[in-house]
Amino acid sequence: MKWISDLIDLILPRYCTVCGGILSPGEQDICLNCLYQLPRVESTRMQEIEKLFWGIIPVERAASYIYYRKGSPYNNLLHKIKYKNRPEIATRLAIAAAHELQESGFFEGIDAIVPLPLSKKKERKRGYNQCDYIAEGLSRVSGIPVRKGYVERTKANETQTHKSKEERWSNVEGIFSVTKPWVLEGQHILLVDDVLTTGATIASCAKSITALAGTRVSLFTLAYSCNRI
Ligand SMILES: [Zn+2]
Repeated sequence: MKWISDLIDLILPRYCTVCGGILSPGEQDICLNCLYQLPRVESTRMQEIEKLFWGIIPVERAASYIYYRKGSPYNNLLHKIKYKNRPEIATRLAIAAAHELQESGFFEGIDAIVPLPLSKKKERKRGYNQCDYIAEGLSRVSGIPVRKGYVERTKANETQTHKSKEERWSNVEGIFSVTKPWVLEGQHILLVDDVLTTGATIASCAKSITALAGTRVSLFTLAYSCNRI
């Protein structure tokens, strides 16, 4: 019923999350112009992301989709996903990312997708875990199942914002535990988070998974926060 959505657009215009312009029928979340300029993380930078984990955990593959840069209007996407009850944006972005990753063979050999868990308290307060929605998008394209509820966050870490690099790493040590190890054992797990900054939190979770017999881990985050560029 295209005329209905056209009519709704006329009465209740929808706006681009990035530039604030009115969306045309057929555009979702982002206008075509902003979509065209989406700040994609270049494939040449993937090794830099993998390097963050060298000597800490063995990572098979790591990828991020877009940059999270200070002052960038594209950060609105992540803000809406995380704080404004719009997690479906995460699924749509993850679907777009997954189509590109599929072509590069990123999903080959991966058995399950595990969304990084929030603490129970935080998930209750927010009403959802945005990482579940990212995992859902990746799963829809790759066909790899999502395994939820087998890893949990046992401690809610304090904010990492004002901590030094060393403090950030020690602050998240041992905050995750695998509740049903037999489900994940021997598998290649793709662990999923929203934003990669120092990598400390996702590395801590990956550590609890790679401690299981025969388990390997790859990482995907929707955004890569890199203020050096
Ligand atoms: Zn726009």
